[in-house]
Amino acid sequence: MAIRSAEGAQSAALRQDFSLLIDGKLEQSARQLDVINPALGTVFARCPAAGPAELDRAVAAARRAFPAWRARSFAERAALVKRLSQLLRERQNELAELLTREQGKPLAQSVAEIDRGAAQSDGMVGIEIPVEVIADDADKHIELRYRPLGVVGIITPWNAPVNLALGPLVSALYTGNTVVLKPSPYTPLATLKVGELLKEVFPPGVVNVLAGGDELGAAMTAHADIDKISFTGSVATGKKVLASAAATLKRVTLELGGNDPAIVLDDVDVKSAAKKIFFASFVNSGQVCMAIKRIYAHESIHKELCDALVEEAKKAKVGNGLDADTELGPLQNKMQYDKVVGLIEDTKKAGATILAGGDVPAGPGYFLPPTLVTDVADDSRLVQEEQFGPIVPILKFSDVDDAVRRANDTRYGLSGSVWTKDLQRGAEIAARLEVGTAWVNQHRATSAFVPFGGAKESGLGRQYSALGLKSYMEPEVVSVAKR
Ligand code: NAD
Repeated sequence: MAIRSAEGAQSAALRQDFSLLIDGKLEQSARQLDVINPALGTVFARCPAAGPAELDRAVAAARRAFPAWRARSFAERAALVKRLSQLLRERQNELAELLTREQGKPLAQSVAEIDRGAAQSDGMVGIEIPVEVIADDADKHIELRYRPLGVVGIITPWNAPVNLALGPLVSALYTGNTVVLKPSPYTPLATLKVGELLKEVFPPGVVNVLAGGDELGAAMTAHADIDKISFTGSVATGKKVLASAAATLKRVTLELGGNDPAIVLDDVDVKSAAKKIFFASFVNSGQVCMAIKRIYAHESIHKELCDALVEEAKKAKVGNGLDADTELGPLQNKMQYDKVVGLIEDTKKAGATILAGGDVPAGPGYFLPPTLVTDVADDSRLVQEEQFGPIVPILKFSDVDDAVRRANDTRYGLSGSVWTKDLQRGAEIAARLEVGTAWVNQHRATSAFVPFGGAKESGLGRQYSALGLKSYMEPEVVSVAKR
């Protein structure tokens, strides 16, 4: 696999025009983070990193800003969120280029990430959270109201930093909370730039943005004056977040990893399904929580599906996300790259058949080709673990009940899909998947109006929709005796 990079030739100076946002002011700090461009494997930027003192000041500012912010109407808060979406669209190209440099994904997908974040933000602030009347008769009036929780800490991962920040951020702000947002230390830059836009829109203290390492995330989960943590990341860290939040009984939303199955039935239109399945498996080089991570194909179409997916894999252009024709960028960081290389090696050693990819090109950059594997055991690491990279097993089944049992035989439960021409049958099988979202003839379709989140160890709670918004609020019953 040849990796081309026009960018490699340019040796630009280290970019350092980044700031934390605390109490409406852009700040530098004593500590700093180096940020690597994964397409080159070298540091290209440096940004300030917050420590305990900055965290305390940010939380105090958010607490001070809370009473005035919660007193505003939903409509006033919605108007400011819409102003943010407008600014995101105006600055989309500049933000997208930075996102590609730090995250690795193709530029068009960085643009799409920002666009989706803006569209979902606009969608969410159109959702109403009315007072619900439970009883109203001659004796009593009972209603259920929702009030904001206070200060929300938001912790995000490195695979889609802008979009995964905007979902919880807008949910928290629109429902009247104030925020301290911490991006991943691998991808803090686009989020810090979004912080500059937030400064233009929201009153001081309402949103604070702190880059920092894992220890800053841990300090947020333990902080006595943060009322809720919205965490997106791995299952292992999610469990630590929940344990730490228990000490102060913080509210918690956890959006964690997945090992999504796709069950492909015997009546499917293989060619058209293969294109969609390939994209849903390999977009962002497989670094998507809800990517397809296991494909179960009926034995009658297994060979045809393998061939069609291999054709897609051979066409896919791997390279620097800034090059116009790149479809798959690098793995985002060395740790993840080493993990996926280890999985490829284990899978080869176990005697699986490598249908496409499988080679590990020499650097620079953390590139791996899209790799398709068959003849792999259900108890192999590749089938059991979340690979979070461009290697996907295509397993064979003869009986649908057996496919459903194997699809559900995991501690993960984020999402899954069924592929068939028979929509009724597809929906019935999809409903048997133990997941937060089960799709038919699609995978990864989400919206501001549809709850998203994981079953089992893939998470706790839901984002988006009224259900998601209410998780940023405390339900309160007001019960009036009329006589
Ligand atoms: P991670 O768990 O390593 O890190 C996520 C964030 O948590 C980072 O900001 C990190 O600094 C912080 N952190 C680390 N240790 C912490 C601690 N002890 N307390 C509090 N915060 C801490 O995850 P990652 O590797 O950045 O992201 C990849 C994972 O995220 C994958 O498993 C992926 O499936 C999952 N993910 C889930 C969703 C979803 O919506 N369900 C979306 C995207 C990614």
